[in-house]
Amino acid sequence: MQAADHPSRRDILVAGLAGASAGLVPGEQSMAAAGLASRENAVPAIKVRYDELRPHEFRKRLAERPIAYLPLGTLEWHGEHLPLGSDAIQSEGLMVECARQLGGIVMPPIHLGPDRAKPADDGKMLVGMDYAGSTTPPRQLDGSCYWVPPGLHLLMVDAILAQLKRAGFRAVFADGHGPSRGSWVENLPERQARFGLKLFGVTKEIARQWKSQVDHAARNETSLMMHLRPDLVDLSQLPSSRSTWPQGVAGEDPRDASAAHGKECLQKSVELVRQMFAAAGLL
Ligand SMILES: [Zn+2]
Repeated sequence: MQAADHPSRRDILVAGLAGASAGLVPGEQSMAAAGLASRENAVPAIKVRYDELRPHEFRKRLAERPIAYLPLGTLEWHGEHLPLGSDAIQSEGLMVECARQLGGIVMPPIHLGPDRAKPADDGKMLVGMDYAGSTTPPRQLDGSCYWVPPGLHLLMVDAILAQLKRAGFRAVFADGHGPSRGSWVENLPERQARFGLKLFGVTKEIARQWKSQVDHAARNETSLMMHLRPDLVDLSQLPSSRSTWPQGVAGEDPRDASAAHGKECLQKSVELVRQMFAAAGLL
């Protein structure tokens, strides 16, 4: 297929923002356009996504920095105001920024992941946020479609690591959806030994400083989404009264989210990744 027939995700984002801007009042429209323009100017459009690279581009990036990034996503309820793919959009967004600043190649996100699960009284299986305190009453939240048994997730990630090793990578950073992050971190030492790869994640040592995907659809994730994909966020879907807590949302109030806060959180996380890589002698 010709490149011209296959619009990049950046093209789609630009088109989406243009479409989203059409529904805004003039002041908001110009702010959205200005935000896009400044982001386009600040970040050179370096291709870092594995699936978009041609072989010579892949060889060059791999030789410069043999680091792979693996976004751990879901298709999961993230409140009425955020899209179902929010986990992958945020983890991939962070990793694209890391790859542009630090080098390396970003894998396509995984959209399946583990989570806590238990049968409800009616026999249906409840998963993750379906029975969080903020889901009243507990119920299957609309759109969640990601759960796999922990053992299957381990096998999937093992298979990806074996392929990354074979392709020539020497290090992998993975992060995203909370339970997937937990599984990744828990198995870091054993997998490092088994695959002969240097593996990085949000371990206990940096968890308190980490600022990316640290709540569920609350102020942190909503701010990150407002920074990365403002066209996909609709705060007007949240209850307008502060006395009504949004369903299936855990953390600080998402109605206090902002794109500026999201950008700040993302940059702090990129800096932590930079420090991890530097300490391991990869930069
Ligand atoms: Zn999330």
